[in-house]
Formats: sequence, structure tokens, C-alpha cells
Amino acid sequence: MPVILRYKCSGCGNIEERDATTQAHPTTCAGCDSPYQLMPEAKKFPLEPLGSVVIVRKIASDISAGGVYVPTNEGQFAYIIGEVVAVGLGIYSSDGTILRPMVNVGDTVVAPLPAAKQITFEIQRHLKERGVAQEELDKLFVIPEQMLAARFV
Ligand SMILES: [Zn+2]
Repeated sequence: MPVILRYKCSGCGNIEERDATTQAHPTTCAGCDSPYQLMPEAKKFPLEPLGSVVIVRKIASDISAGGVYVPTNEGQFAYIIGEVVAVGLGIYSSDGTILRPMVNVGDTVVAPLPAAKQITFEIQRHLKERGVAQEELDKLFVIPEQMLAARFV
């Protein structure tokens, strides 16, 4: 069973993942030659998305408590703003290399609301068994990475 560890470049912030059971840890960044540091695994989310799927914890959205969005201007539609809590390892390109998603855990992203699917009761139940707090469960959305619209910087 692979044990995936994440390392962050102390210079440019690039993130590398290694399977601790089969791969050596990265030492210096190929891009900027700075040392890599192991990222704290406390943030490891118990549901790992596959491919380029992202799991987001909602921070805000244009939807009222009653579930209604009333646009104030023509052309507006509803968005969700959330923090990325888990991200897939990527998809294979035609030449067999893995194309990593462009977002990382901790990023604050924006997505059109129709692209964000709230996780179901059954998945919530499994996450609760794995230690995710009840108040977090209703805020979790699954979004294909290619549907993300923007990231706050
Ligand atoms: Zn670097």
C-alpha cells in the first residue's frame, strides 16, 4: 500500500509527492535548487480524489440559506468560494506522463456553483467515521479541476 508524502520547496513553493515505500525523498528543487521540506500531514483529508478531481470546503457562496440565488445584474450567476482540502494526483497524458492539477491543498478557489457537487449523506457518514467534524461535512463539495474558474492569490 503506497504511503504518499508531500514535500514543499522552500524557495518556489513547488510541491512534490513521493511514495515513501518505493521512492526516495526529494532533496533539492529542480526549478530553483532550494531544499524540500516535508509538509505536515495533519491536513491529510481521509477521502483522496482521483484524477484531477478536487474536494473543496465552502467558505462562501452566492446561495442564500434557503438555497436561492437572485442575480442583481444581467449575466451574473452563482459561484462558490472554498478552500481546497484534497486534490487528485492528476491524469495521464497521451505520452504516459502525469499531468498534475494546477491547484494545491490550502488554495482558495472559485467555481461556478453548478460544477460543485455537495457530497452525499452516505459519503458524509464514512468521513465522520474517519474523524471529519460534523460541522465540516455540509461544507464539502467535489469539483472537477477543469471546472474551477479562479484562485485567490
Ligand atoms: Zn523550487
